[in-house]
Amino acid sequence: MTDIAIQTPLGGPTLPQERRLVTEIPGPRSLELHARRVAAVASGVSSTLPIAVVAAGGGVIVDADGNSLIDLGSGIAVVNVGNAASNVAAAVSAQAAAFTHTCFMVTPYEGYVAVAEHLNRLTPGDHEKRSALFNSGAEAVENAVKIARHATGRTAIVVLEHAYHGRTNLTMALTAKSMPYKAGFGPFAPEVYRVPMAYPYRWPGGADACGPEAAAQAIDHIRTEIGATNVAAILVEPIQGEGGFIVPGAGYLPALVEFCQANGILFVADEIQTGFGRTGRWFASEHEGIVPDLITTAKGIAGGLPLAAVTGRAELMDAVHAGGLGGTYGGNPVACAAAVATIEMIDREGLVARAEQLGTVLRSRLNAMGVEDGGLGDVRGRGLMQAIELVKPGTTTPDPDRVKAVLASCHAQGVVTLGAGTYGNVIRFLPPLVIGEDLLHEGLDVVADALARSEGTSI
Ligand SMILES: *Cc1c(COP(=O)(O)O)cnc(C)c1O
Repeated sequence: MTDIAIQTPLGGPTLPQERRLVTEIPGPRSLELHARRVAAVASGVSSTLPIAVVAAGGGVIVDADGNSLIDLGSGIAVVNVGNAASNVAAAVSAQAAAFTHTCFMVTPYEGYVAVAEHLNRLTPGDHEKRSALFNSGAEAVENAVKIARHATGRTAIVVLEHAYHGRTNLTMALTAKSMPYKAGFGPFAPEVYRVPMAYPYRWPGGADACGPEAAAQAIDHIRTEIGATNVAAILVEPIQGEGGFIVPGAGYLPALVEFCQANGILFVADEIQTGFGRTGRWFASEHEGIVPDLITTAKGIAGGLPLAAVTGRAELMDAVHAGGLGGTYGGNPVACAAAVATIEMIDREGLVARAEQLGTVLRSRLNAMGVEDGGLGDVRGRGLMQAIELVKPGTTTPDPDRVKAVLASCHAQGVVTLGAGTYGNVIRFLPPLVIGEDLLHEGLDVVADALARSEGTSI
């Protein structure tokens, strides 16, 4: 045991915004927790960086050994407004003191309705909308599928290569990648069909041709092998998340939307990772000029509390019979209070514009790293959702080993970074939208250094 006086400091924006290493990472207290965890927690649940968190806020995470790490992950795009944001924490404690649960399906309350009103107002399109609240992203996606099938009377759901939509049985079927998400967990739900994704970096005909060509292939596949009249919905992430922050080639999503409209198919945008200002817009669909029929949200919605939603055209959402949607905890009042405070904070602090502005900083730093490094195959993303794809220099062969080395080096230097990608060869950057610009630069200095040190390690 060290004698560092860490009495679980309060988190939130008051935490010193600095990288501070006082032990190795993970330090002795973190290792103690890790030993308990290995003995108590199922090993199928793994952690990227096994420190013992005691506080977090702004752009830092503090561990039990007194180390302060720069957070470039936001708990996977969740704490867009920062950890323990003071108004979110205040709203949570006030609501918890008033009442913690009644079940909205038994005796309703204002917070749920307020969240629905915000979502209906903020999501793309000025048509009349309705929302329903759930607990997790996967649950929202499942409900979007239920609603789409019910409203159209059709069963087939079309998803994309490299897609990620969750870990429940239906959402495993919707997700593309086998290891670790699906391997050994089948059989999977039927009536799910996968079509080509416009992946500019890896498109055989080149990035410029990618959007139109991939759309044509996807539509041809739907027409000939699924049958357009059987399709209830096409489900897409407007920027793919776990798949590697793939921004669809220009024209791809608008072409799919047009095909949907011509064929009575619903276009469903999974904005669970891209939502709530992350990409420099409230929702990433706005970059594409598209208006989805249904939108799923979660992650960034409630400053870290579990909450998710489906928002969509009133006539579709209201097509389901009374009692057909819901769940015991969906739209929990404490989570709703956090969501209202989070949405108000994004508005008040101008965090959408801040994500766009810091995104240009992030992009220029990543581009600069790419100029010096033949292994940086691609730099992509929008706002504060950007990534680098690592390959063997001079090829497009994925280099997942180098990603592992870079991540390990960043972690040892006190910067929380995450991997991603179908081939495990992507490093993604998801800092809180409130991170200080200096801290972002310092985190990226560590990344640049880790990249330089790993050069040639896996050729
Ligand atoms: C994280 C994620 C999900 C699943 O959300 P959970 O809350 O983990 O169930 C679904 N879709 C996308 C795009 C995601 O990023």
